[in-house]
Amino acid sequence: MRRPVVMGNWKLNGSKAMVTELLNGLNTEVAAVEGVDIVIAPPALYIDQAAGLVKEGGNKLILGAQNTDIHNSGAFTGDVSPEMLKDLGASHIIIGHSERREYHEESDEFVAKKFAFLKENGLTPVLCIGESEAQNEAGETEAVVSRQIDAVINHCGIEAFNGAIIAYEPIWAIGTGKAATAEDAQRVHAFIRAHIAKHSKDVAEQVIIQYGGSVKPENALAYFQNPDIDGALVGGASLKADSFAAIAKAAAEAKA
Ligand code: PEP
Repeated sequence: MRRPVVMGNWKLNGSKAMVTELLNGLNTEVAAVEGVDIVIAPPALYIDQAAGLVKEGGNKLILGAQNTDIHNSGAFTGDVSPEMLKDLGASHIIIGHSERREYHEESDEFVAKKFAFLKENGLTPVLCIGESEAQNEAGETEAVVSRQIDAVINHCGIEAFNGAIIAYEPIWAIGTGKAATAEDAQRVHAFIRAHIAKHSKDVAEQVIIQYGGSVKPENALAYFQNPDIDGALVGGASLKADSFAAIAKAAAEAKA
């Protein structure tokens, strides 16, 4: 049985006041929630502040981050390393988000290097994959997600997916309010798991596959009721304590 993981990607949103308010609210909302890992990924600058607040809440929340570099130190201006993230208490690190693939031209191979470096440093990669609207309409979803996963398998080997997380995020559903249907998401998730199973059934059986793309309290339960949807990567709805907590509670309820 896979334990669900619900992760909030705050993206480029935050201030010291906002972090305090959101995490105080979340600490209260999730205090009694069991059976789900609830992860937050604030902007890197606020991870340290968030760590203090997570501790005050009894460490019910898990700390994550939105990106990493592929070096631990040196002349890499502006970057943040796995060692630094670990030093601040972050464990679950998003890589390959479509916004980074698009705005920072991150290739499948570069994302695979990040995956490998996170594993080397004992951190949990949250590998985002997913197709564009045009690729979806052209029937290329399976080809795109296979290519993105294969880049990691080729670089790191299939065993690297042990303990890792995949977030299937159709790009057209991110921040648009136009979520994939639960049925369509389940179909792609089952395909992803079967694709991994071609290399290792054991790895496929344990890997967490989250859905991401306009997940809200209103539609969350329908996703989690599907056997291959093990949680969610949540953007907009993770910026409000009550809506993010409602999504986490839905995951706990569906997978209990
Ligand atoms: C995301 O940024 O990963 C995401 C899924 O955003 P949203 O929930 O706002 O669609």
